[in-house]
Amino acid sequence: MEPAPFENELTVLTHQEDDSVAAVHDQYEAAVDALLEKVGATHPLRIDGETVETAETFAVTSPGDTDLLVGEFAAGDETHVDRAVAAASAAFEDWAADWEARVSVFRNAASIMRERKYDLAATMSVENGKNRTEALADVDEAIDFLRFYRRELERNEGYVYDTGEPTPGQHTENRLVPYGVFGVVAPFNFPIAILTGMTTGALIAGNTVVVKPASATPLIANQFVDILEEAGIPDGVVNLVTGGGRDVGQPLTEHPDVAGVVFTGSREVGLDIQQTFVDMGKRGPVIAELGGKNPVIVSEAADLEKAVAGVTMGAFSFSGQKCSATARVYVHESLYDEFVDALVEATEALPIGRPWDQDTVVSPIIDESALERYRGISAQAREVGTVRTGGTEVDSEDLPDGRYVAPTVVTDVPHDHDLAREEHFLPFVTVHPVESFDEAVEKSNDSDYGLCAGLFSEDDAEIDDWSDRIESGMCYVNREQSATTGALVQAQPFGGWKFSGTTGKFAGGYWYLPQFMREQSRTVIGDVGR
Ligand code: NDP
Repeated sequence: MEPAPFENELTVLTHQEDDSVAAVHDQYEAAVDALLEKVGATHPLRIDGETVETAETFAVTSPGDTDLLVGEFAAGDETHVDRAVAAASAAFEDWAADWEARVSVFRNAASIMRERKYDLAATMSVENGKNRTEALADVDEAIDFLRFYRRELERNEGYVYDTGEPTPGQHTENRLVPYGVFGVVAPFNFPIAILTGMTTGALIAGNTVVVKPASATPLIANQFVDILEEAGIPDGVVNLVTGGGRDVGQPLTEHPDVAGVVFTGSREVGLDIQQTFVDMGKRGPVIAELGGKNPVIVSEAADLEKAVAGVTMGAFSFSGQKCSATARVYVHESLYDEFVDALVEATEALPIGRPWDQDTVVSPIIDESALERYRGISAQAREVGTVRTGGTEVDSEDLPDGRYVAPTVVTDVPHDHDLAREEHFLPFVTVHPVESFDEAVEKSNDSDYGLCAGLFSEDDAEIDDWSDRIESGMCYVNREQSATTGALVQAQPFGGWKFSGTTGKFAGGYWYLPQFMREQSRTVIGDVGR
């Protein structure tokens, strides 16, 4: 039976259409108030349905107010990884056996997450600094992943196909079966959407998991595990080991009993994990979504207003800490000066503030190493090119002590300079004049990455030409709301070409789940058991 059409969870848009946005703000603010009353607790590991204390803990403070302690978190190590993998291995057989039971758990999980969406959004604003609208969109996306992957498992009836009796007496069946234990290693920047998407992909396919969230965002990871437990997930199926990349992430991905890894994060770490699998002779998949250096073309036929709006939001929402952030812009020389002036004006108008304040667009950056990188590339940009706006930290009496920096627009940087080639993951965009559309397409494609790309043009022939030639997983034309960010599950599956990903199959798309399984063809001769 074909399930009902998929519908995205669109909290803010739905309330805007109903003229009831005030209700969003009220519920979000109540959730922030409630959270601020109780932050600072200590959170153990979660292994085999039990909590596990560790000798060491690590503290997480809020990027928007570094005096605010979000919590103390158990610092796991190799021994905890071993325990968690053992629990996941023991739970595998039963979990793999019944796909309809998995559907039921994930149906419950989606309902619980919907009920808690404001609490989760508040946690995200406080823990990783995302502003309220984007935090809610992050939770919406997580709900979408829970629902979409569950729906896919149902639509494919557990990926079991009766292939009939090809010759008399041969009864055949073709199915996809899970691998075993998956390591899930997640980034800080979509701490519920990506964590939920990767974990759900592995679990709903019948694998069991050990989850290692980013060190910056362990609280929301704990809240996600709470939801799965309340949804009825059996003990040992999901295990949470918080701690550092080297202390937990590496032993997890190197563990001989971990059959596959699903990872989102930097190219360096993702490719290392892939290499580990090759070196160890492991046959399971490394499903890795990596970085980006996303180009946007503003052609001679562009609507300038749309282009400025799209680039401003693409580059600076969540302070550029998105793999999909707009990073380099190629503008036809006839529009270049006008575009740069308008972009600078729009950038300077963006409100910078506490993540949980209603008007904030540009939120603080995640940690001290990001701040160091911001200082470094700003200094370099002043040497090599021209900083048109930004390049400085923002220190205001109205703001608490936090990592607030100005969104930065840079020109006159050569296209082949590292500033225009490396991913910085900061509110930093370079703008380059081009003489022709062809030059813009060639420069867009002249990158190791191929994640997202944007075009502003009102010319149909140009749009078709660009769509055929651009080397990018996700391609957006005339997207005023954001030139390169903001994909929706099912409609805009998310993934990258080249060094932006390892599999060529995208999260939130129809070909995602089969990656977590391997194929088996079964033949039984005669009528035994039929
Ligand atoms: P990192 O690669 O630094 O970290 C990602 C995860 O890997 C974290 O949980 C980290 O732990 C862990 N880790 C670090 N070192 C190791 C190791 N040696 N072995 C195993 N695990 C390890 O990325 P960020 O969290 O900083 O995220 C930003 C990056 O993610 C950017 O490059 C961005 O483009 C990419 N990204 C890609 C997306 C996509 O879909 N293509 C989407 C979102 C982000 P810890 O936090 O403890 O260091």
